[in-house]
Amino acid sequence: MKKVFFLFLSLIFLVGCTSKGEQSNCSKTRKPKNVIYLIGDGMGLNQLYAGMTANGGTLNIERCTHTGLAKTYSANSYITDSAAGGTALATGSKTNNGMIGMNADSVAVKSVLSDAEEAGMATGLVATVRITHATPASFYAHQISRNMYEEIAADMLTSGVDFFVGGGRKNFEVRKDSLNYSDSLRNVDYNIVYSIDSVQAPVLLPFGALCADSDMPQARERGNFLPQAVDLAIKSLDARADGFFLMVEGSQIDYQGHGNNTEGVVDEVLDFDRAIKVALDFAERDGETLVVITADHETGGMTIMNGSYADSTVVAQFNTGGHTGTMVPIYSFGPCADQFTGIMENTDIPTRIKTALGF
Ligand SMILES: [Zn+2]
Repeated sequence: MKKVFFLFLSLIFLVGCTSKGEQSNCSKTRKPKNVIYLIGDGMGLNQLYAGMTANGGTLNIERCTHTGLAKTYSANSYITDSAAGGTALATGSKTNNGMIGMNADSVAVKSVLSDAEEAGMATGLVATVRITHATPASFYAHQISRNMYEEIAADMLTSGVDFFVGGGRKNFEVRKDSLNYSDSLRNVDYNIVYSIDSVQAPVLLPFGALCADSDMPQARERGNFLPQAVDLAIKSLDARADGFFLMVEGSQIDYQGHGNNTEGVVDEVLDFDRAIKVALDFAERDGETLVVITADHETGGMTIMNGSYADSTVVAQFNTGGHTGTMVPIYSFGPCADQFTGIMENTDIPTRIKTALGF
């Protein structure tokens, strides 16, 4: 009887393995029209689980149907920074730490956002840091150093990005070269504003909001900024007929990880998860939107030591004030979500998004 039961189990396992490929929901007839790509900066599995525990044991991200893991090392370091991590996730090229939108030979490489733009899709970027900061910059800029914020801001003018919301006003307007790139953007029809509080969706594109001189305040002081920006982005980009590509960064999970601040990590993760809810709600209604959620790296070497769903409490320790080399999770939903399972390179993620879109 034991033998028969074992055989039965083996059969279930085999059927489970083979049917995965056969039931792929990614095909010529079922390609995504839109992509929403959400990146939690510094969001390892434990950052996410801390948020989940503090939220009573559940998060919106659990609505994703598929999960995977990504290796995060960069071209010149086992431990990546957000520039090499962002460039890998944006372009599919590993590069050296510090470099934006260039490969390790300092040659500019195209991002999946640029490919989407060329294919006639509407494109957008939302972040809670400077829009010139490493992760969003990797999608539109090509600079040798992430610290060249003013050069990165100048790259926005030729990027074709249709919609952006974040901080970084001073990189556009208070510059060593005395140029005003907000005015330059206005001269090519951008509506540039400094707050999204009273902006009605959909906005006419191209549109840019520079809502802080530098980074936005931390989650506790930021209110509903990130979910609101994602809602505005989706409604505005979706008004164009030919599909859209939107990158959203939960930028400051990383900052709180650097600060070894458990409460801060939880606040930022819950804020990011509210933005994820906006994306998943749209994708569920729309049926043609691929949602991919991942991280560039883990920050802090966070370990969960204790917690309670009932009390929504979590106790954590940190091993470093910097980044770690651990793999990060990937979550996906919608058409072609099944292409983001298993263990992969971080560079495989944009490559698979491009394939899903038929590029
Ligand atoms: Zn960091």
